[in-house]
Amino acid sequence: MIGGFWRLFVEVDLSSEGVNVKTYDVELAKKFIGGTGLATKILYDEVGPRVDPFDEDNVLIASSGPLVATGAPMACRVDLVTRSPLTGLIGLSNAGGFWASHLKRSGYDMVIIRGQARSPLYIWINDGKVELRDACEIWSRYDAWSTVEAVRRDVEEHYGIKDLSVMAIGPAGENLVRYASVVVDKYHVAGRCGCGAVLGKKKVKAIAIHGSRKVPLANPQKFREAVMKALRRILQDPSYKLFSSFASLPLSEKIMRKGALPGRNWQTAEVKNWNARMTLEAAVRYIVPKGRADLREARCSHCPVQCFNQVEVDEGPFKGLKIGGGTFVRPILEFGAKCGVSGIPAAWRCRELCNRLGLDEASAACAVAFAMEMRQRGRIGGGGTGELKLAWGSDEEVFKVLRWIAYREGIGNLLADGVAAAAKRIGGDAEEAAIVVKNMELMGSDPRVGSRAWHLGTLINPRGGDNVRTTHFGIEGKHFESVGFHTRVNDELLVEWLDMPREVKRGIFGDPPVIDEHTFKGKALMVKWYSLLTTVMNALGVCIFASMGLDALGPTHYAEMYSAATGLELGPGELMKAGERIFNLQRMYNARMGARKEMDVWPSRFYTPMTDGPARGACLSRDAVEEALCEVYELMGWDRQSGLPTKRKLEELELTAEACMLY
Ligand code: SF4
Repeated sequence: MIGGFWRLFVEVDLSSEGVNVKTYDVELAKKFIGGTGLATKILYDEVGPRVDPFDEDNVLIASSGPLVATGAPMACRVDLVTRSPLTGLIGLSNAGGFWASHLKRSGYDMVIIRGQARSPLYIWINDGKVELRDACEIWSRYDAWSTVEAVRRDVEEHYGIKDLSVMAIGPAGENLVRYASVVVDKYHVAGRCGCGAVLGKKKVKAIAIHGSRKVPLANPQKFREAVMKALRRILQDPSYKLFSSFASLPLSEKIMRKGALPGRNWQTAEVKNWNARMTLEAAVRYIVPKGRADLREARCSHCPVQCFNQVEVDEGPFKGLKIGGGTFVRPILEFGAKCGVSGIPAAWRCRELCNRLGLDEASAACAVAFAMEMRQRGRIGGGGTGELKLAWGSDEEVFKVLRWIAYREGIGNLLADGVAAAAKRIGGDAEEAAIVVKNMELMGSDPRVGSRAWHLGTLINPRGGDNVRTTHFGIEGKHFESVGFHTRVNDELLVEWLDMPREVKRGIFGDPPVIDEHTFKGKALMVKWYSLLTTVMNALGVCIFASMGLDALGPTHYAEMYSAATGLELGPGELMKAGERIFNLQRMYNARMGARKEMDVWPSRFYTPMTDGPARGACLSRDAVEEALCEVYELMGWDRQSGLPTKRKLEELELTAEACMLY
């Protein structure tokens, strides 16, 4: 018996208003694991370079992996896959919450959306039955949050169903902002790559889903044992307690201390009063204790960590602000450092605005910071900027520009196509201020400072702009240990805890193990290991924090759960091989779209010395980056000159049929 997935996907063709249910082969499932893996294969086969991301032939695939809704811990992610309107490359983005779990329990592994509707609608999937419902009333009137509420009301009124999940777009998606996000039940966001704009072009305002079926398991007893083992690892992880209390928020202090803040669009690492305004200490007073918090909309299904919080601001200009999930470090770095907003409440307000408007907060923050730098340098002004001074640190102006981007008003129209496109239009030296990788705005901290593998992962991330699809871990910088997450401060114990084969540990950390974020030594292997592991997790539908944030689970645990759930026996090595296959197919997709080694590059700013802060003078060396990148290529089996997977590697991964479209 095959369990874990249904081997069914539903295709919704908006142009013909047709709905088809299709099955797929077990061998395909085994080869590409499921979830993102299968979705990548479908995109690769169907959406070629002639299909513009906004063409009706582009598809948007919402997929759930084989562990979703089985009871496997942290298996809750819905992965969206499309050709990205921001980068022109593969668009990958995922979100937590309950959407994926409902999809799976509705009897499908994936929904594939094709074509373009004649008028705005929302898709309603109720235990496998698909209906297209009119959304003219809410289109252009409702933001993403009120869309979620309106759709919930509509479903309850017509079907009496309250237990559902809704993904929705805001005005940014409707107005085809190229980094528009998809918001799931308010606080969960598939932010990157512009999936919201693809839905907007297709005139899909929301997708609501309810599922009540039980997902079959091939070997329930064995599966239960594997789940219990994984759960124990999660609960015993040295980072568990603090991570579940505050997620990654404490890292803001650590990043400041090492001099890696991306202040003022990466022009400065010194951000005024950071320690007083932007650290865990400054945030804690607004965090509602978990026992009292209303976290209904912020929870993720089957997660023992529940890292989201509710925050309430009870004083000052943001009094009354109340959001969930807001305690990650991301809005603090994106808006606090890049744009210099006044404090944590202002950064959370930016997050709330981005969620309501349906904007990816990382790209949006970069766009605002880019505009501020352009104004600082006198490259823009008058016309599109209206009365705005675009002064660093002006909360109100940041809020205004975010709205303008979502509605494509004034300078917002220029920024809505992405920073790289805006810089091209402005011309001259504007491209120096466009901090992008593969045309995707860069998220996070400064790559000139430490964390060599973390940052190298950004360069080879198939979606560009961050390392979330490759190396988003804490172990290299001992992030969590250094901010008090870990009780084990000894390198040997930290490495011992990892679920990683001995020879890989030795190759990465040496023997005896030493964790050093500043060296490139061992980092190529680290990049390879974590890139494949992340790909496996995305394909299974598991939150990456299970292996990166916490270091709890690894291929052994995933292989045990996958094999027991599906009945398809795969060992840890085979699972990682399948991850490698998917990762290479994503790379090949980008190659078909024209990407070569030239796109695995840093913006020129990072090859100039930092001018201030604790890491003053730090600078990337072109030779060192080239050498490290070539080492990664070598390990990956990619050609050093072009960056393409070699024919030998493709044969080894059984991707020769797919290679015909590439070579
Ligand atoms: S760790 Fe946090 S983001 Fe991940 S599944 Fe759990 S609650 Fe969701």
